This record gives sequence, C-alpha cells and structure tokens, in this order.
Amino acid sequence: MAPAQKSRTASDRARIVAILDRLDATYPGKFEGLNFASPFQLLIATILSAQCTDERVNSITPQLFAKYPTAEAFANAPLEELARDIRPTGYFNAKARNILACCRVLIERFGGRVPQTREELVELPGVGRKTANVILSQAFGQQAITVDTHVARLSNRLGFVQTKDPLTIEQRLMEITPHDRWNDIGRLFITHGRKVCTARKPYCDRCVIASLCPSAILPTGG
Ligand code: SF4
Repeated sequence: MAPAQKSRTASDRARIVAILDRLDATYPGKFEGLNFASPFQLLIATILSAQCTDERVNSITPQLFAKYPTAEAFANAPLEELARDIRPTGYFNAKARNILACCRVLIERFGGRVPQTREELVELPGVGRKTANVILSQAFGQQAITVDTHVARLSNRLGFVQTKDPLTIEQRLMEITPHDRWNDIGRLFITHGRKVCTARKPYCDRCVIASLCPSAILPTGG
C-alpha cells in the first residue's frame, strides 16, 4: 500500500470508530428492522423486503408465517395463492417464485434448515450477498456488513468511498472497520439514514456526526 493510501486508511479507521461510537450513543434501542422468530422467517422476510419497506413486510408476516410455518408448507403452496398472500410487498409474482424455489432447495439440499455460511446461502434462489449478510448477522450473530441503500449513501457522504457498487463499498468498510463492529454498521447507518441523513435531504444541522463528515452543510452563523 502506498504511504498516502496507508495514512488515509488509518484516518478513516479512526473516523469510522468515532462515528459508530457517536451513533451508538444516539440510537441505543433495539434496531427497528424486520420481525422474525427464526432464521427461516428472517430469510423469507428478507426476500420479501426487496423494493419494499420493513414496516410493510412486518405487517403481513404474522399471518404469512401462521399459514406457512415451515419450508415444506411454503414449498407445497400453489404459486398463485402465495403470490396473493404476499401481494402488499410488491413484485409478488417474482417473489413468490423465488420463495417457492428457495424453499425447495432448502429442503433438498439443507434438510429444510437455513445454512450458516455465505457460500451456501447465496446458492438459494432469491438470495444474493446482501440477503446472505443480513441472515449471517441478524439470525446467526456473525459479523457481516450489509450494504443496502442507506449504507451505500452514508458511506459516500461520509467520504469512505466514491462508488455505488455494493461489493466495493462492503470491501472498503471491512478494511477500515474493526471486525467486532461490522454488525454495528448496518444497524446504525440504516437508522441514521432513515432519521437524519435521508435520501431526499441530509439534515446536517441536527446530525450528531456532522463534525466527522466531509459533506456536512452547516449554517455559517451571523
Ligand atoms: S453531516 Fe449531513 S451529510 Fe454528513 S452524515 Fe450528517 S446528515 Fe449526512
């Protein structure tokens, strides 16, 4: 690594730790994300959450999991009926197809249980790297960085990357963040992205990490 790049990485490391500490103190409660009672439920909820808010997914999953409690129950469902059941989450035909295919592979290859490695998870239809990281981190407590739209936006505004490519962002964040804090990034960046550094407009004047952010736009005073 060139000396300039090395010192950039060192300063980014110190800055991201300070940012995570400050956000952690600001958002100490439980992360408001998808509701689930098992890794399997989180897998299905995460597939449903593509292009849909967590709130909307949470509004249909209690009835959905009561009707289809296992991978076998989903796998045996008629496609049209399942599509109707998940309609409020949008893209319901594609999602229903993915869920059926995913549950069939779960049963055939993994005995109906959700696997615990990224390599195996991404073999499931409808499961990409982002979904796999959500499951590893939230269902199995492994450290993984989930790059969703909020994490991508904040990583750019905070000056850690200049790209929209999720894999490049994930790799850079892994490089500069202590391993035991990888899970904090999803939880804290997503919360901050929803509440303050929103897609529509960053509210820098009420942002607790403004002094650590190169994109901060603050009133000049006077
Ligand atoms: S200072 Fe502004 S741009 Fe930077 S993280 Fe805060 S809200 Fe986002």
